[in-house]
Amino acid sequence: MEIIAERCKRCLVCIGVCPVKAISDKDGIVSIDNNICLECGCCAAACPNQAIKY
Ligand code: SF4
Ligand code: SF4
Repeated sequence: MEIIAERCKRCLVCIGVCPVKAISDKDGIVSIDNNICLECGCCAAACPNQAIKY
């Protein structure tokens, strides 16, 4: 999974829905750790800005 930085508004909705806490907000940038991500798609479905893609 990948977050498209230009689309991300840092609402942090995705962090709340990820079941394995693979998404973090560090230094103002939201990113996904693909070593932890299960590719469930929950974050992409929840993102109000279509900022997460497979
Ligand atoms: S839900 Fe979308 S817009 Fe909000 S922080 Fe996550 S990637 Fe960014
Ligand atoms: S696809 Fe699922 S496991 Fe991966 S970051 Fe998104 S919510 Fe978390």
